Parts: sequence; structure tokens; C-alpha cells
Amino acid sequence: MSRITLIKNAHVFAPRDLGVCDVLIAGDKIEKIDHGLSLPAEIGQTVDADGAWLIPGLVDSLVHISGGGGEGGFASRTPELDPREAFASGVTTVVGVLGTDATTRTLNELYGKARALDAQGLSCYMHSGSYQFPVNTLTGSVRTDIMLVDCIIGVGELAISDHRSSHPSIAELVRVAADARVAGLLSGKGGVISIHVGGCSGRLQPLFDAVAASDIPISQFYPTHLNRNLDLLQHGVEFANAGGFIDFTTSTTPEILATGELRASEALRVALEAGAPADRITFSSDAQGSMTNFCDNGALQDIEVGSVASLFDEFRRAVREENIDFIAALSAVSANPARVLGLRHKGTIAVGQDADLSLVDRDCFEIRHVMARGKWQFFDGRNQFRGAFAK
Ligand code: ZN
Repeated sequence: MSRITLIKNAHVFAPRDLGVCDVLIAGDKIEKIDHGLSLPAEIGQTVDADGAWLIPGLVDSLVHISGGGGEGGFASRTPELDPREAFASGVTTVVGVLGTDATTRTLNELYGKARALDAQGLSCYMHSGSYQFPVNTLTGSVRTDIMLVDCIIGVGELAISDHRSSHPSIAELVRVAADARVAGLLSGKGGVISIHVGGCSGRLQPLFDAVAASDIPISQFYPTHLNRNLDLLQHGVEFANAGGFIDFTTSTTPEILATGELRASEALRVALEAGAPADRITFSSDAQGSMTNFCDNGALQDIEVGSVASLFDEFRRAVREENIDFIAALSAVSANPARVLGLRHKGTIAVGQDADLSLVDRDCFEIRHVMARGKWQFFDGRNQFRGAFAK
């Protein structure tokens, strides 16, 4: 018999405010949302939320799950994602990507790690490609990767306006975007093109040019790191107002902030104040990627590793420090990324959706329990996850 859980007296943010209600979970799906539900102990487990917030499991659209970086030489290669870090910070869905290194990091390896995480209970998807053009693929083309490999939902993160980019032409960008879009349409996936935007002066111009030179909708492109500086953020607001989605990176360091980067939470406030639509803004962690700080002359100054925990931290900071509306901030880490990625069963709390949920204490704004596909992976502040080789 499949697992049944009843969460009683939770203040549900779907992200829409549903008020205090009971949520019944059967197997890996949300079965019922109502008032006055009860469950005999012999049928399943009842958890009293006592008014705690019940929010969707967070959707992290950019994680270097198999490790990345190495921009300080081989000794600086970053480690793989440990699923316990994701569960402990309320993240239940991740999209794995390669980054700068697509030579010693391969799509084969990324695929293996994506399948491992998914088998461990963390919903995991991946993109074809890397920073580089021509785009490297698993099966020979972006189109066959997206159409034939279940967990591949798009391509990226392709790099533009960055010294580490292959400097693709507009025609090359359009070609890849067309392939991803058509493959997405044919396979019922998002077919999104994740774009790493660097700090060079071109900003988002290559994407505006690609949209102008083709019939590809602007929403097919999904640029990230737009909180890198105020100038890029302002271009991002234009992009969002033109119908695109924009993404802010939550992992950062004091050194990177000192170069002019805005925290994702601050960037969200600035973008909203500048008139960007709240339903087109997302956060992602860039976890396990190397966070590099380059001098003006291109020399590497310092390097650290991104963390998946930064996603929840910046959501909380957006609400507490930047006074952003709770639902707008929550949407940036749940419903919005699920929508842009085409993950229809993720990012919202509703009947029929995957049972990916977090209970959050109202007073301390701390995560109490996390459920992923119907299973408690983090409970009372403790990881429940056991790997294959746990003693
Ligand atoms: Zn990037």
C-alpha cells in the first residue's frame, strides 16, 4: 500500500494564500486539500503543523550537481551535490548543468548524477550543452537529447557577454534556440535555453538581437546571474517587461558583493520597484559552481563554492530584510521557476501535484520538515535521508 500522510492545521501558501487547512498526501501526490480531515493511525501518519507555513518544495533551476568550476586550476574543482543539503534547505527539485568545464566534466557524468539524485528522492532534471559553442550533447544533437532523454528538459547554461564564453554569433544562438524550442514542443517539455550572462558590456543584447532576428518567443531564453551589477539588472527589467523570464543568483560572497553584485533579494526589490512583473522573476542557487572573483586584468582573485541553501536564505531575506510581499518572494523560488522550465507538477500546492512540501516555523522562519515526492526527507530539523552506503 502506498504511503499516506495527513498534514493538519497548516497555513498553506500555494504560493497563493489558502489559509489554514489540512493536506492529505497519498503516495507521491497531493490527494486532497480541505478542512476537518482525519486519518486513522492504522492507515497513515498525521502531522499537526500547528499553524506553521506549508510552502511548495523549492525549485532550483541551476545547480552544478556533478561539480563544476576549477577556474583556479584542477585543485579547485568543486564537489558534487549532496542531496541532504538540498532537503535540509527545502529544495526538492533541481536542474543539473555543466558550466565552464565541459572537458573533464561531461554530460555522461552529469546524466549519471542526475539519475542518482532522482533515485535518492530529489527530483532532478538536466540541460544538454554547457558554456560552449558548438553545443556538446549526449546523443548527437540538442533536439534528440531533449526528445529522447526523459530528464533532459532544455539546453544550457550557454554563456554570453563573458570572457569564458565561446562568443556565439546571433545566428548560432537562434539555431540552438530553435532546436530546443521545437524539441520541447514535440516532447511536451519546456525546451528552455538557459543563458549564463557574464559581466561584459554586451549584457543581454545578444538575446534581444536573437529574438529580433527570428520568430522565437523571448520567453524561450532564460538568462541568469542578472543581479551581477545594477546595469545588467536594469537590462533584465527591460527583458522581463518584453515578456522574458529573468533569474537572480543566490550564492555569493562578500568579495563578489563588493564588486557591485546585488543580493538576489535586493535585486528582486529593485526589479519590482522598476516595474518588472513579479511572475517573471526567479532565483537559482548556482550551487556547487565555483564563485569566482576576477580582477579588471582578468586574473583570478578568489574562489568559493555555491550553496543550495542560499535559495531559501534569499527567499527569507527578501521577506524579512527587503519587505517584499511573501507570495511574490515565494513564487520566485517555486511556481515561477517551475513554469519557465515547463515542470507542471512542481512548484505549487494543489490536488494532483507532486507532494513536494516544506513546513516553515512562522516565528523563526526556519525549516521544520521537508517532504519530497511524499516522503519526509528532513524532519524536526534532522535529515532522514540515508544513502546506499550509510552505516
Ligand atoms: Zn553561470
